[in-house]
Amino acid sequence: MAWGGGWGGGGAMFGGRGPQAGLPFGGIPSELAEEAERLLATEPEHPASARTFHQRPLEDERERLTLPKMLGRYPRMVVEGSLLVIVTSLLLQAGPLLTSLAVDRGMVGTHRSLAVVLWCSVAYLVIAVLSALGQRRQTKVTGALAARVMHDLRIRVFTHLQRLSLDFFTEEKAGVLMSRMTSDIENLQQLVQDGISSFALQGLTMLVITAVLFALNVTLALWTILLVVPLLVVFSIWFHRASESGYLMSRDRIANVLADLSESLYGIRVVTAHNRQRRNIVNHRHVVGAYRDANFYTGRVNAVYGPATIMIGILGQAMLLGIGGDMVLRHRLSLGALFAFFLYLNRFFAPIQLLVQQYNSLQQGRSSVIRLRELLETPPTVDEAPDAIDLPTIEGRITFEDVSFGYDPARPVLHHVTLEIAPGESVAFVGPTGAGKSTLAKLANRFYDPTEGRVLVDGIDVRTVTLRSLRSQLGVVPQEPFLFAGTVRTNLRFGRTGITDDEIAEAVEVVGLSELVDRLPQGLDTVVHERGQTLSSGERQLLALARAFLARPRVLILDEATSSLDLRSETVIERALDRLLEGRSAILIAHRLTTAQRADRIVVVDEGGVLEVGTPRELLERGGAYAAMHDAWLASGGRDSTRAPVTPK
Ligand code: ATP
Repeated sequence: MAWGGGWGGGGAMFGGRGPQAGLPFGGIPSELAEEAERLLATEPEHPASARTFHQRPLEDERERLTLPKMLGRYPRMVVEGSLLVIVTSLLLQAGPLLTSLAVDRGMVGTHRSLAVVLWCSVAYLVIAVLSALGQRRQTKVTGALAARVMHDLRIRVFTHLQRLSLDFFTEEKAGVLMSRMTSDIENLQQLVQDGISSFALQGLTMLVITAVLFALNVTLALWTILLVVPLLVVFSIWFHRASESGYLMSRDRIANVLADLSESLYGIRVVTAHNRQRRNIVNHRHVVGAYRDANFYTGRVNAVYGPATIMIGILGQAMLLGIGGDMVLRHRLSLGALFAFFLYLNRFFAPIQLLVQQYNSLQQGRSSVIRLRELLETPPTVDEAPDAIDLPTIEGRITFEDVSFGYDPARPVLHHVTLEIAPGESVAFVGPTGAGKSTLAKLANRFYDPTEGRVLVDGIDVRTVTLRSLRSQLGVVPQEPFLFAGTVRTNLRFGRTGITDDEIAEAVEVVGLSELVDRLPQGLDTVVHERGQTLSSGERQLLALARAFLARPRVLILDEATSSLDLRSETVIERALDRLLEGRSAILIAHRLTTAQRADRIVVVDEGGVLEVGTPRELLERGGAYAAMHDAWLASGGRDSTRAPVTPK
């Protein structure tokens, strides 16, 4: 049923969506197309998941993640799969018994009978067909079960990630999270799809064979079990240990290869600029070499285990021939039973080898469950109160009331900040780099919670309102605007549902994007590649500004949104800002004083505290820190010596 899982995606591609989606899909070979169509026609419709996002986890999302609980959601499939495993493992072992029957009752002794031989062979055939059908059905059921369980899990983990707070994503490496979402979930998929059923099947097979051997002849069964099994178990345990350490080693080393690869790819510009290619290759040769050595080791372990088990099998056969043959001669064992012993002995090895291999996947699956459980049990640090209310439409008064905060509580970044921003007022935060300007802004829309003090919006503590209602009224243009895969238009629509084309056209006009849009090959429908890397950083900021404009927030937070604009765009932006800020409260985090001068008030932030507050003119007259900044700026001719400084309000 690898097919069953695979076709879900393949089916969509088959409908002709694959190539457009940009996936490397070679297409279904023409000779299989008809078969595939037929298979798809019999596939039941799988409705899209009905799960929607809730800031607070629902009852079932709060349950501890365990494999039985995940499987328990599909009891019918679990019962059917288990029954099929039992039936097929019984059916599979009927062959040697029938052979023994055919030999003893049809071929040797006094009562030879062709009819018995023929009946036995027909029964053998029928049982073989039945067990094949049973296995087919069982593979289909467990495959579908695995696909469903993994689908649920993927959505659950992703939903949880969406819920987690920003500090989590700064601490956890994106690569580690990706591996939770890919390799850990795939390990589990493997386990549910093949692992558990095959573990059960092999285990049952061994039990059935042992029982039959004892039923046939206790003495020979004891000889077989005592001679063969201990040797096999000792070797298998050695193999298990050795291959597990090899597996762990190669897992660590492939992770290094991937990390090195992704860093080199993401940092390709810096690599090229600093001529690091040669050193990068040497480094990559090291990590790839270490991975190769781990694979050599696993290869050597396999090379010992495979032939060794074959040798044990041959030893067992030699023993059976000697002891069993002697017993036949003394009439203590029938010839048919000896035949059956030979056949069963061969079948006895496969389950042990498979169990050892499956054990690894069982272990991997178990550790994946543990890692995923840890992830799912990480609570968001910025959590919505159970009785949170929807923030009504706000006027836009923002109050920082004796606020202190540290990303690491032991190292405060903000100290006792008290500040009030009136409705409709624009306030610029200025100050040296690392002073805490962005941090202060991040507290307003609850990216983080203060360690002391309160942040109020229209007099309501932000911790008492739903995050959705708060953030929908506070628009942020971040320092590094992020563009998503899609067109320019879809990126602009990001901030709110129901944005019309007319509104987009207006935003393009207001923000001064028209020139850029005209330049793009397909205008607004141009596809943005690689997080907008095909656009200049100034263009990305303009887009982010238009996005914020379209979201129509009551309060706007601009984090150095104009820092990477050229002079012409800056003029456009500054004009746009005036429109954008009309009737809105705003926090402008500005390095350049041209932007700061446009604000109603300026707040000078230094070392996590508010140093000065006032209108640009007041601060200049006061002759304090801001005036010094302004003088320095004038002395250097401003950022742009071609332009006279803006007259302060
Ligand atoms: P800039 O003008 O350079 O953007 P800023 O005044 O906006 O600086 P913040 O980004 O608020 O400064 O940073 C204030 C302090 O907090 C800095 O010392 C910074 O190193 C630290 N800091 C910022 N973000 C984090 C984070 N996610 N985790 C830990 N520390 C952080």
